[in-house]
Amino acid sequence: MILVSRRAPLSKAALPDDERDPEVGGHEAKVGQIIYSAILWLARTVPDDLGAGTSVEEFGRGIDWMEFSERFTDVRDPLRKVVLQAGRDEVKQMRTTIRKAAGDVAVGTAVEEVVVDGAFEVIDQAAVAFAEQLAGQLVVEISDGIRAAIADLAMQATLGDLTGAQLARKLRSVVGLHAAWRAAVDKTYDRTLAAALADGKTTVARATMLATKASEAKAKALLNRRAWNIARTETQRAQNLGKYAGWQEQVSAGWVAPDSLKEWEEGRDPCDTCAPLVGQIVRWDEPFSNGMLMPPDHPSCRCTANMLPPDDEFVATMNEQRAARELAAAA
Ligand SMILES: [Zn+2]
Repeated sequence: MILVSRRAPLSKAALPDDERDPEVGGHEAKVGQIIYSAILWLARTVPDDLGAGTSVEEFGRGIDWMEFSERFTDVRDPLRKVVLQAGRDEVKQMRTTIRKAAGDVAVGTAVEEVVVDGAFEVIDQAAVAFAEQLAGQLVVEISDGIRAAIADLAMQATLGDLTGAQLARKLRSVVGLHAAWRAAVDKTYDRTLAAALADGKTTVARATMLATKASEAKAKALLNRRAWNIARTETQRAQNLGKYAGWQEQVSAGWVAPDSLKEWEEGRDPCDTCAPLVGQIVRWDEPFSNGMLMPPDHPSCRCTANMLPPDDEFVATMNEQRAARELAAAA
């Protein structure tokens, strides 16, 4: 077992963008594209007119969620590749650091062997599992958001007096968008309609058509942005899980101690949400206090985590503090 000096991180944080494998950007784009087209497909299943007989709720119940989730199947491959790449990078980086710290002689040969044969069995398996898990979570998260938006619209429909065509239009544009963005789409519709009618020459039918077109274009642009945001977050998650897979590989290969620790580290753009997590140290294979095995904690979180050598004293203190907190909470 080779260990570097205590408290020194075993690896550096994620590389800056310009040094990162350009493939990551390509994988991110692929994920974004898949999310965008899946949601667009769902929006297109909304009929032109919901009619008096069909309610928004009925439409929601009629959605083919199986087909919807199948459209996400393809995100697994790019995510798996990101995990794989990040895991391998982490292992190579860690081994170089460890080799330097220990003196080249002891482990130099081992490093060459591993890099040359590219045997990263643990990472390979973890990458498949993580990609599957990420894809599953993604579908659940997006489907839940869509269900909530539909329920929200159903509520509005009960309160207001929208026609079947108006409901259909709204439904088509809300699918996949946040509440604030749904409001932006509505605003575009109202503004375009008012502007078209202002000259007194445009017919209501034509003005409605123009407003529908403008709001649909706005909805598409926002949906595209949302898909990209999600893709960025999920790719970041895959990268951090890749790092974790690298640690699994390292532990299983006996390069680092199984009781090593990890520390939450802020990204290039530190976020307020994560401030309480920054610097938190837990066992490498245990979740942080927010329940996450690895960052990110929230959308656009750029945080990462680094592995630290084992520290029995630290773990003992931490356990004592935890026991004291539990005791206080129980009292
Ligand atoms: Zn963060």
